[in-house]
Amino acid sequence: MNILFATSEAVPLIKTGGLADVSGSLPPAIQALGHDIRVVLPGYPTAIKNAGTLTSIASFTLERDLLEGQILEGTLPGTKVPVYLIDIPHYFNRDGGPYNHEKGGDWTDNPQRFAAFAHTVVQLAMARIDVGWKPDLIHCNDWQTGLIPPLLTVEDNPPASIFTIHNLAYQGLYDKDVFHSLGLPEHFWSPESLEFYHNFSFLKGGLAHAHWITTVSPTYAREIRTPAFSYGLDGLLNHRSRQLSGILNGIDETVWNPSKDVHLKGNYSSDSLQKKAVNKLALQKHFGLKEDKSIPLMASIGRLAEQKGVDLILKVLPKLFESGAQFILLGSGDAWLEHNLQMLASQYPEQFKLTLGYNEPLAHQIEAGADIFLMPSRFEPCGLNQIYSLKYGTIPVVGRTGGLVDTVVDATTRNLYLDTATGFIMDDASPEALLHATERALQTYQQPKVWQKIIKTAMKQPFSWEISAKEYIDIYQQVT
Ligand code: ADP
Repeated sequence: MNILFATSEAVPLIKTGGLADVSGSLPPAIQALGHDIRVVLPGYPTAIKNAGTLTSIASFTLERDLLEGQILEGTLPGTKVPVYLIDIPHYFNRDGGPYNHEKGGDWTDNPQRFAAFAHTVVQLAMARIDVGWKPDLIHCNDWQTGLIPPLLTVEDNPPASIFTIHNLAYQGLYDKDVFHSLGLPEHFWSPESLEFYHNFSFLKGGLAHAHWITTVSPTYAREIRTPAFSYGLDGLLNHRSRQLSGILNGIDETVWNPSKDVHLKGNYSSDSLQKKAVNKLALQKHFGLKEDKSIPLMASIGRLAEQKGVDLILKVLPKLFESGAQFILLGSGDAWLEHNLQMLASQYPEQFKLTLGYNEPLAHQIEAGADIFLMPSRFEPCGLNQIYSLKYGTIPVVGRTGGLVDTVVDATTRNLYLDTATGFIMDDASPEALLHATERALQTYQQPKVWQKIIKTAMKQPFSWEISAKEYIDIYQQVT
């Protein structure tokens, strides 16, 4: 099968979150199973720089705004997967992030940028931009690619499309004027298509028109069909429930593997857990914490957003610090959370170390060095950090939602007895529940035999992409 994988970010070209991890790992896993999959993404300067050797293989003029562009062809570094970068300098050649300018706000022309991306992908798929290859199917990801499935419906003999939701909270929602300014077919302005309560939704385009919808965990696939998680889209998602599945993300085990990880002070496996302590001591030293492997070291990494329950962490830390535990947090995001974290870190300089920013090597070192990983998300489509934590034997404390409950097995008495326990699950998204779950973890940490057993069970869980890739291929085959 020929598959075009359309995404707005992919490791190692450009990354803001889990979507990039998936886009960098799933296509190689599908290729390894014998399919011709190619990745297409916008030609941001960072992506062009990180792609290495690129060849310009086609040029084009956008019909609507007469802007010039070209298709740059290369290979996703570290893989054999072909990649097409859509280089439209007016829209993509600028400093800043893929969606935000340097001050943090959205680019005001995001709808124009991602509409131009979608139009170009469709032109390429229909061979009006000729790259010498045609897909049987386009795999779209998140709202930035949401216009691709509807645009395919007005073509003769188009490829099939599937649409993967990585996070329903981001919808690409704009007003009606924006819809009109993009010159989209008039009949798209309808509740069966792009109109969403009198607004214009990119995401809805994907949900309404793709042949199949997937999301990144079975539990999230059920949750988004309920009002509490759907942002008003449960009606549509229930209507499409026969073409909606949840496929758990895998992880890149060449990058996230404690026995090979190049960022670590000491590599280890479940058979050499004493070497995990080397990383703990190095981490304590790095942060100027008391270097003592008997002190429980908790950590958290991620976007500082309400979704991630960072406010819950803020509320319970003072209580947790009474036990003498240490805590390291790496993340960036909402200004009010950053500010409150800074205030708290200054009150507990001996126990709480905060790094604001994005730091990949440090994320690896924290995953290896910490004992307990806090991830009290209010919702979590899949979540990667709790999976990395399991693989690194850093026991996760997680919210009872989405991919978290699909990957972590709560250390109940029964699960401990059965040797299936891998972490601690909160009863609900409250500070009390986080405190209770973390205290359970801290108490269990004081029983080294039980703790080691949990670590060993956690580290052997399989999260390779091959399992997920097979499930995607089943769906590709159903819709083509
Ligand atoms: P989301 O996509 O919602 O942000 P995920 O857990 O699915 O959350 O994926 C987040 C990814 O980004 C993980 O690979 C995580 O390690 C990484 N990450 C997030 N914040 C940081 C940070 N401040 N420094 C380094 N890596 C980070």
